[in-house]
Amino acid sequence: MKIVLASNNAHKLKEMREILAGTGIELISQREAGADFEAEENGLTFEENARIKATACMRATGLPSLSDDSGICIDALAGLPGIYSSRFLGELSYPEKCQRIITLLEDYPVRTARYACSVVLVFPDGREYTAFGTTEGTIARDQAGEGGFGYDPMFLVEGDGRHMAELSEDEKNAISHRGRAVRALLKTLKENEIC
Ligand code: IMP
Repeated sequence: MKIVLASNNAHKLKEMREILAGTGIELISQREAGADFEAEENGLTFEENARIKATACMRATGLPSLSDDSGICIDALAGLPGIYSSRFLGELSYPEKCQRIITLLEDYPVRTARYACSVVLVFPDGREYTAFGTTEGTIARDQAGEGGFGYDPMFLVEGDGRHMAELSEDEKNAISHRGRAVRALLKTLKENEIC
């Protein structure tokens, strides 16, 4: 089954393709489907934003469309940046954003955080399937690792002790918010005999 990933984020596409390897789902990018646009993410939750992107992509391509909306929620910042993760701290690079957050949390006792991800798959006939996944962790006092993307160098994975960016691709996909959300979605699709 061919599904369009409603995103122009190359990192997400790569991770999603790895997670979906062997499932019979062929994931193509929005660009490959000939729809080069960016939907306005004006929802108030990860799920709302994922639905907005998937629906816009499905309407533009006429194909089943999958969207992921994800981010990092930091308890000391009342859950921010959350759905604003990609826009948080404007034009700074990710190493700079991570450093700002590490400095902000210096001496702050509560360092817990989580990555969250909602996935929404919409079909042209109106069927819709959703799933959600999280990964718990804490904000580190330094950055480490070359893998992953975004905030991964500052995120210490609960129960592992390494920074998310120090995990191999397979290790990250096995425990990541995105991996968990997509596997939960696949379970539903299998139960409904869609794949
Ligand atoms: P979205 O494309 O609107 O869903 O924005 C997701 C943003 O959340 C990314 O641009 C990153 O800032 C952050 N994010 C989501 N997942 C990850 C991850 O696995 N590692 C690091 N940052 C992530």
